[in-house]
Amino acid sequence: MIENNVRSILSSISDGNCFHEQITLVAATKMRTPEEINRAIRAGITDIGENRVQEFREKNAFVMQANRHFIGHLQTNKVKYLIGKIDLIHSVDRDELADAIETRSLNENLRTDILIQINIGNEASKGGYRAEEGRKVYERFHSRAGLRVRGYMAMLPNTTDGSLLNRLCDDMRALYDDVRKTDPDICFLSLGMSGDWERCVSRGSNMIRIGTAIFGARQTSAE
Ligand SMILES: *Cc1c(COP(=O)(O)O)cnc(C)c1O
Repeated sequence: MIENNVRSILSSISDGNCFHEQITLVAATKMRTPEEINRAIRAGITDIGENRVQEFREKNAFVMQANRHFIGHLQTNKVKYLIGKIDLIHSVDRDELADAIETRSLNENLRTDILIQINIGNEASKGGYRAEEGRKVYERFHSRAGLRVRGYMAMLPNTTDGSLLNRLCDDMRALYDDVRKTDPDICFLSLGMSGDWERCVSRGSNMIRIGTAIFGARQTSAE
């Protein structure tokens, strides 16, 4: 059940990743009720991530204190519902979205923390920049007054090829390390879900987004 799952994952990550960096566990709460989410928070979850703006808006007032993340595909016309309410947006996958977050943040005198989403497997079904563009995208965004780039996010492709997955994790970590060298604001590499987080933290991820392994299987997919 939820409480045991949370405790078990928190205890497995308590020693940090392969570089002894602290790992942030973000509970992925899509399709979960506020009651389920609050049970996870009472069991020790400090960070929660929602996928859809509509669900965020419906549930937010009923969910206890925790850091709020947004991890799903985001339409520019819905950015207004998140600014000032979300601590970290993981899914900045195109310049148009960064522009919308920037404009809205400046209107509200805020600087919004974001991650740049990388389509590490070059999959047609997923959003995000190519890994080779990752550094340039950072350079475009990092000096903007309404944005604070905190790192990168990616989803590994669905394959059983372990050496490919390891190489993709290493590519993400190399990109992250490259920008982190010169920018102390860069401190999150958000990589790893229920099926692959152990591999990801063993290769340098320091932020994992876990749904199923905390809450159980979802009824239907809301990816
Ligand atoms: C649903 C989701 C997760 C968690 O997936 P699980 O396999 O249930 O752990 C992580 N990241 C994103 C972006 C998601 O949409």
